[in-house]
Amino acid sequence: MHHPGHRFAAQDRFADGAQYIGGRLTAGTSGRTHTVVDPATGDPVYTYELAGAEDVDAAVGAAARARPQWAGATPGERSDALHRFSAVLAERADELARAESLQCGKPIKLSREFDVPGTIDNTAFFAGAARHLQGQSAGEYSGDHTSYVRREPIGVVGSIAPWNYPLQMAAWKVLPAIAAGNTIVLKPAELTPLTSLMFASAATEAGIPDGVVNVVTGTGPAAGEHLVGHPGVAMTSFTGSTAVGRRVAEIATATVKRLHLELGGKAPFVVFDDADPEAAVHGAVAGALINSGQDCTAVTRAYVQRPLYEAFVAGVADLMATVRLGDPFDRATDLGPLVSHAHRDRVAAFVDRARGYARVVTGGEAPGGDLSSGAFYRPTLIVDAPQSSEVVQSEVFGPVLVVLPFDTDDEGLRLANDTPYGLAASVWTRDVYRAGRATRELRAGCVWINDHIPIISEMPHGGHRASGYGKDMSAYSFEEYTQLKHVMYDNTAVARKDWHRTVFGDR
Ligand code: NAD
Repeated sequence: MHHPGHRFAAQDRFADGAQYIGGRLTAGTSGRTHTVVDPATGDPVYTYELAGAEDVDAAVGAAARARPQWAGATPGERSDALHRFSAVLAERADELARAESLQCGKPIKLSREFDVPGTIDNTAFFAGAARHLQGQSAGEYSGDHTSYVRREPIGVVGSIAPWNYPLQMAAWKVLPAIAAGNTIVLKPAELTPLTSLMFASAATEAGIPDGVVNVVTGTGPAAGEHLVGHPGVAMTSFTGSTAVGRRVAEIATATVKRLHLELGGKAPFVVFDDADPEAAVHGAVAGALINSGQDCTAVTRAYVQRPLYEAFVAGVADLMATVRLGDPFDRATDLGPLVSHAHRDRVAAFVDRARGYARVVTGGEAPGGDLSSGAFYRPTLIVDAPQSSEVVQSEVFGPVLVVLPFDTDDEGLRLANDTPYGLAASVWTRDVYRAGRATRELRAGCVWINDHIPIISEMPHGGHRASGYGKDMSAYSFEEYTQLKHVMYDNTAVARKDWHRTVFGDR
């Protein structure tokens, strides 16, 4: 593949290292290196030293030192800093998009039109929200006292993020934490550190004090577990797979930390027989292929009511065939590679196992020719898979859609709810009663009607069931990143309080 100079010069930009501690880039000290690979070509683009326990300790120390001043800043001061942060990110939009596309292989139009503007908007949202942190109103609930509630930051937050949307995940973790007056140590996935580091350095450029936002780039077992178990960390926020989330929960529980888990998904897409067929086909293909299907809310299981089923399968297959795989830096590219060759092989293995019990209608292979050195995989449609089969039940995290038929509305909703996950779901119908019933009965943190994928800064994102608990984005995320304190004043000014009778009797 051709390598135009408009990619991103990672080695030059991050020559000092991939750790951001106390407001500056430094090298890791684990003695182990990692090489970031451009998944579109297989070429190495950046080699850095991974963080070890000492780097995590240094970052937690920097966050702890920054905490009193940042927690003591007024909401207006934090808001101003976040407004400046949003402006710096807007100035850096082009290089952020290029770095994101380079390390993830995502099409440049996706980075430019979704990842980067979404992050800038989130930053602006939390700049406003920082001034709206509220507690319950005060009152004389006992008669003899005035009570009020203080909403306080928790302290040093340790966050761990996945590789699928590295910039947005950094934003979702960092922004509500710091808007509420916490300081943070973020561990991005070691495959994709670049935009998390750029995000942290933009915070410094915006005048956010050193140590408020720190990034340690290391592996999960080494840097991640040390961060989660760290006694100086008051809260863990984790986004990633359900399997790793369980491990993180064990460690966090042993050290009695606040825990927020955003885990895997297996989103159903339920098409009733009165739906607009064209809208459903386009919605399914776009929702299954966005970010090469490496999206926790991606459409993974389409359940289509029998009268529409055959035409839906044919329509999806035809539309998938029009999607253009190619160089992520070419604006005409619809679908880039998967994040790594290892992940592509994992996705391919899911599909190959499915051939034993289902039918692959289209895709199911890596493209050859110019794309053969990248981690590409063709859009894949699978039918005739049993509901209990692996490809229906497990998260594939690739451009793979399974379509299944159903007869009654009861059956469609029951099948949609029949996996351990509960992150997102959609329903396609023009009947308001069907839509209403589906929104009540689908067990997921988000239900769309006649769309699938859009998110917005004002609204919460988070799972039910095995997809985790707690919310990212929106004012609801402050519930994770703050704790309440009850303050109670005596109003009587008497030395011998009425309730002392329970101790002193009649004396
Ligand atoms: P992953 O669970 O393998 O890794 C996530 C992060 O955890 C990485 O930073 C990794 O280094 C770290 N990690 C790995 N082992 C660890 C350990 N033992 N202790 C501490 N940290 C550890 O996930 P991934 O493959 O990077 O990302 C894909 C997964 O993320 C999918 O399951 C997807 O659904 C999920 N995801 C969920 C959401 C959501 O909002 N619910 C959003 C994006 C991605």
